Amino acid sequence: MGWLERADTRDNTPWWVPGVELARPSGGVLVRTCDPFGYESGGPKHLEGGFYDLSALGPHLWQCTARADARYRYTCRCGHRGKEAWLCVGHVQSITARMSGVCPPCAHPPAEIELQAQMHAVRQSARPGMAATELMGLEGKLWLLQEKLDELVERGLVHRCRVRLVEVS
Ligand SMILES: [Zn+2]
Ligand SMILES: [Zn+2]
Ligand SMILES: [Zn+2]
Repeated sequence: MGWLERADTRDNTPWWVPGVELARPSGGVLVRTCDPFGYESGGPKHLEGGFYDLSALGPHLWQCTARADARYRYTCRCGHRGKEAWLCVGHVQSITARMSGVCPPCAHPPAEIELQAQMHAVRQSARPGMAATELMGLEGKLWLLQEKLDELVERGLVHRCRVRLVEVS
């Protein structure tokens, strides 16, 4: 059973925000429901870039039953775009207010992901009972990789870009 089936669903509808209307389908009229899933819980960093899967959102699946008026997506000034999501007025407000988001592809470009993977592999290769010289060798490798990471930051390849929530027309 996947995380999605196990997560217990909780209501997160911001019904107190003016303009929020519940999206109860009446008379067979299809209305868009707000889908803050993946946006509400700290932004796209949880889901994008392949760092985290849905379980990073925690044990609860927060759901909003409000009508969504427009589609939104994250953008950064380097041109990265998050996936589109239908959001209600209330969620646009709360997400915008809380947004301290750093663009995941800007903070974690492929070169950085590669270096992190190499560092992880070096750490994994340490075994109990290893000779001191071997351990020192591993440590040396880690320092080299760390230097390369620092270089990426210095060159601005790894940087913190703010993301903005913009309406998709
Ligand atoms: Zn950027
Ligand atoms: Zn909503
Ligand atoms: Zn970016």
